[in-house]
Amino acid sequence: MSLLRQPILLLSRSDRFKSLVSALPVTSGIITGYVPGESTDSVLAATARLADDGLKATLDLLGEDTQDADQAEATAAAYVELLRRLAAAGLTPGAEVSVKLSAIGQTLPGHGEKTALEHARTICRAARNAGSTVTLDMEDHTTTDSTLGILRELRKDFPETGAVLQAYLHRTESDCRALAYEGSRVRLCKGAYHEPESVAFQDRLEVDKSYVRCLKVLLAGQGYPMIATHDPRMIRITGSLAGRYGRAQGSYEYQMLYGVRPEEQKRLAAAGETVRVYVPYGQEWYGYLMRRLAERPQNLSFFVTSLFSKK
Ligand SMILES: Cc1cc2nc3c(=O)[nH]c(=O)nc-3n(C[C@H](O)[C@H](O)[C@H](O)COP(=O)(O)OP(=O)(O)OC[C@H]3O[C@@H](n4cnc5c(N)ncnc54)[C@H](O)[C@@H]3O)c2cc1C
Repeated sequence: MSLLRQPILLLSRSDRFKSLVSALPVTSGIITGYVPGESTDSVLAATARLADDGLKATLDLLGEDTQDADQAEATAAAYVELLRRLAAAGLTPGAEVSVKLSAIGQTLPGHGEKTALEHARTICRAARNAGSTVTLDMEDHTTTDSTLGILRELRKDFPETGAVLQAYLHRTESDCRALAYEGSRVRLCKGAYHEPESVAFQDRLEVDKSYVRCLKVLLAGQGYPMIATHDPRMIRITGSLAGRYGRAQGSYEYQMLYGVRPEEQKRLAAAGETVRVYVPYGQEWYGYLMRRLAERPQNLSFFVTSLFSKK
């Protein structure tokens, strides 16, 4: 992992740093490079532009670690409204939504899991009515078992619900085996949180090796793998493994983040691959931006300039 990754993730938890960054206008280049805007209109416009380029989308209403029940309910309602507007704009089934369970109540004291499951059901129902689907984002390792438990419950009624697994966790190869069954949509990513050695590989090469082992399990299995990476090596390896396991184009998909390697997204789509872009939007862009920055410290100097010029 980059030497700067952990310091940036730690700095991002400081309240003073957060207020400094949050004072940036949303139109600042460092933000719009990763987030199309704060409003539903901005994300619908971005989704339509992607569709024009032959790209699918998964939309994420930014916000995590919701601390109160009203906020969890408001987030679920915002997803329902987003799905309604996506369908009305004719953007489904090409666009779906990604949901963080912590944003819909998972970590609330007492009945957090129950609350998140109920809200997730409401969103899944709205997605089905809109001709769309839901994928449950994966957050830090303390929530993995809870998230997979909620996924199991949801899939009883909504088997199309997507899961996310993170290759940096030691447990993930085994989770891939458990989820590689017919109809199971599984996004494989490297993982974006600051995790301890006891549960996660720390070395970049070890994470990559785990990613390839997981890829093999998913591509050899019966499910629908969603290969979420910008890494040119992982993309090449996916291509050759898809050939080895007799996977036709369209029986898996690539996923990348909004604003990251857009030319590669279009190149893969032009080659006949299914490519879906993860499009985050909303006012709570701070945590998301910090994780992207930690992954790409090359952007740090651009970021510091934005911070002090306040343009
Ligand atoms: C669609 C999608 C959904 C995700 N969902 C989750 C989730 O639910 N939970 C979670 O923990 N994480 C999630 N992530 C984040 C993921 O875990 C990684 O943190 C992130 O994708 C960076 O890993 P990487 O595979 O791109 O490779 P890295 O190891 O970060 O980068 C490898 C190589 O990719 C290229 N590259 C990477 N970033 C850039 C860039 N900005 N510009 C140009 N080239 C670049 C470079 O060549 C780099 O050397 C998601 C990622 C994607 C794409």
